[in-house]
Amino acid sequence: MLGAVTADRRLLLVHAHPDDESSQTSATMARYLADGAQVTLVTCTLGELGEILVPEWAHYTPTELGQHRLGEIGDAMNIIGVTDHLFLGGAGRYHDSGMTTDDKGRAAVPAEMPANAFWNADLLEAADLLVEVIRDRRPQVLITYDPHGNYGHPDHIQAHRVAMYATVLAASPSHRPELGAPWEISRVLWNSHNTAMWREAYQIAKDRGIELWPDNERDPDSFGPDPSQVVAVIETGPYLDICRRALANYRSQVDTSQPFWQFFQIVQELPGAGEAYMLGFGRPFPVSDGPASDLFEGLD
Ligand SMILES: [Zn+2]
Repeated sequence: MLGAVTADRRLLLVHAHPDDESSQTSATMARYLADGAQVTLVTCTLGELGEILVPEWAHYTPTELGQHRLGEIGDAMNIIGVTDHLFLGGAGRYHDSGMTTDDKGRAAVPAEMPANAFWNADLLEAADLLVEVIRDRRPQVLITYDPHGNYGHPDHIQAHRVAMYATVLAASPSHRPELGAPWEISRVLWNSHNTAMWREAYQIAKDRGIELWPDNERDPDSFGPDPSQVVAVIETGPYLDICRRALANYRSQVDTSQPFWQFFQIVQELPGAGEAYMLGFGRPFPVSDGPASDLFEGLD
């Protein structure tokens, strides 16, 4: 542990795989680093079972892909400016669980997975690894996925479970005092798709002839939560260059010429677009007309 309480405002993000932080929360990390806040990222697996998009790397074994993505996330941290990044329990402690799809095309848990797959992790054991980080960094705000892992990847769901459990245990004076003094996180936010923006971008993509789901028209209202659930949005605009470079740097996982990533770029470029958050736990934001623009609002 670093004993790293370096700023008044402290943010902790818990993500499942290298690249999730860059596709979902890069503007948020860049914004709070620019504001002088402490930003800590915990990644739970090396993403060994991600789909490899580059033919020259298609022969990688899961272990080789994990090592490759270790390099990619290191570069992404440099691009965004994050200096406090760690893997839950150390790099390789938990293996990517992989993902399959059910007959309705929804993300599902695969029938077979490695013995140390994150999905199989003992919840208390994994949460305790995070309790130690929480008590050391003492964040006021924690960001993780919603209970469905946003779109259902088993590792995203598990990251949510571990983060929520660790939040409760970290605050308990009776739980594992040797892991540090109790710390109560003030607010847990669930990063989510910005449904209103996705709806708008979907129409633009269709107008431009970008076929996201050629045989399967989607209901735009199913892209994410009801917009009334979005309690905070961190604008992408000022950090667009950082967001793009951080994501494009994941060459094994992201091909920006593919329809989905073109769509993603349309979303990011919309006026007022931003990373959306729901309130998972803790102190609500002060009442106002729309989503808050500061994740720490009302906590100081
Ligand atoms: Zn992921």
